[in-house]
Amino acid sequence: MAQKRERQAVRSEQQIVRRLFSHAKIGEEEKRCVREFLVSYGYLPPDFNDEQFKQGLVLARDLLLPGLNPGSKEFLAALALLTGAPRCGVRDADSGRVLQGYRLDFVNALPFTLRYWITPTPPDGVTLAAMRATLRSALLRWHQVEIGQTTIVNFEETSVRREAHIKFLWTEIDGIGSRIADAMPAELGEDRGIIRFDSLDSWTAVENLDDFHIGTIALHEIGHSLGLAHIFDPPDPKPTMDPNFDQREDLSLEDIDIKTLRDIYSHQ
Ligand SMILES: [Zn+2]
Repeated sequence: MAQKRERQAVRSEQQIVRRLFSHAKIGEEEKRCVREFLVSYGYLPPDFNDEQFKQGLVLARDLLLPGLNPGSKEFLAALALLTGAPRCGVRDADSGRVLQGYRLDFVNALPFTLRYWITPTPPDGVTLAAMRATLRSALLRWHQVEIGQTTIVNFEETSVRREAHIKFLWTEIDGIGSRIADAMPAELGEDRGIIRFDSLDSWTAVENLDDFHIGTIALHEIGHSLGLAHIFDPPDPKPTMDPNFDQREDLSLEDIDIKTLRDIYSHQ
């Protein structure tokens, strides 16, 4: 309960900040957050110069805030707000170059099979059965994508973590908000192929606007396991692979997500 109250307090604080920003100049602290955000998500190299900073802002505008002038106060204020918004922890770009999807290197023919392992410890307030059911629904959505009549990927559960290509687990990432979850490409090995959910955020397996829906976020992260990068277009409908998360249940892939998976695996 204490955690829940704390989360509500953070949310109302974010609303106040949002209102203030619409009238005030952006401060030094916000500028620092913006720079940190741009470096950690790959818009800027760690030691960037002025020219790279400008290019990073333009890329952030193109991908995250289309239509705004990257030199304006409004743009910086909107970007500062985005730095605290819930999103995926996977990078959008690499030193200013937008990341593209790639095929898992051990895949030779279709369909290929990935084994998955699910933690036996669900997050607070979610039953083991509900957690498992919603994760499996998310896997099923990707399994249903075909090229012609051919399945692309099958999933098989294993109870042996080291034998799984994908491991679902909860761990502390960065506190409430910001990075909600992240993922590595599917791969065998104890510390590879991990999909992490932040245990400091609040989770649900049912329709509930206060908490993050496990299946919805898992659907996005499984995309990364399969080699997809973030997709920013079109804004409406928002791709499953858009890095910014909503707190609503939506276990459907958009056309662009399906097309991208097909494109990655359609060439032998
Ligand atoms: Zn992501």
